[in-house]
Amino acid sequence: MIIAVDGPTASGKGTISKALAAHFGLPHLDTGLLYRAVGRQVFLDGGDPDDAGDALAATGFPGSLLADPHLRSEETGGLASRVSVHPSVRRALFERQRSFAEQRGGAVLDGRDIGTIIAPDADVKLFITASVEARAKRRWLEMQDRELDISLREIEADIAARDDRDINRADAPLRAAPGALVIDTSALDREAAIAAAIAAVEEAIH
Ligand code: C5P
Repeated sequence: MIIAVDGPTASGKGTISKALAAHFGLPHLDTGLLYRAVGRQVFLDGGDPDDAGDALAATGFPGSLLADPHLRSEETGGLASRVSVHPSVRRALFERQRSFAEQRGGAVLDGRDIGTIIAPDADVKLFITASVEARAKRRWLEMQDRELDISLREIEADIAARDDRDINRADAPLRAAPGALVIDTSALDREAAIAAAIAAVEEAIH
């Protein structure tokens, strides 16, 4: 069974995907991490994330970069959303994601274009969303936990800019795939969001 989970940043799709993978016994790929690695590699190379050539060159990042804690930062998230607009970058990362989806027994993948481009044949497609305010608040609380000094305002602005780039890019824009089940997590806590997603998958496969 392939489960495709898409949605904007801080919607809860990562938490939900991990929980679905554990519940249904499937391997999980966070595809945002691949784009983050490209963004980080461009930075390490001293390149320009808005330049298609520099960004494409960074898709050859070493595998060890995927364990770099810097990948989780807001800054790298912003770089990821800039490199991800280049069609050549998306093509370079396609095969890796597709073969993960096609492995025997199935998989859970989360990202922006899983249900639309990477696995349009997925058995279940979920689109996880939440208001900008709810997402910014969550991200801010996470940052407080990590003792990072950033204001709620800055996070809201960053999330809105990232949404804008992801939704309005020409290649593989962020949108719910046809037939995707939409789950709005604005008013749900972690457990309720996971329960809603598990129920949606159960319903889709029965
Ligand atoms: O999900 P995450 O916040 O880690 O993704 C970082 C950025 O990578 C997103 O803002 C988006 O621009 C890009 N991305 C993408 N397609 C995916 C996953 C992530 O374009 N499948």
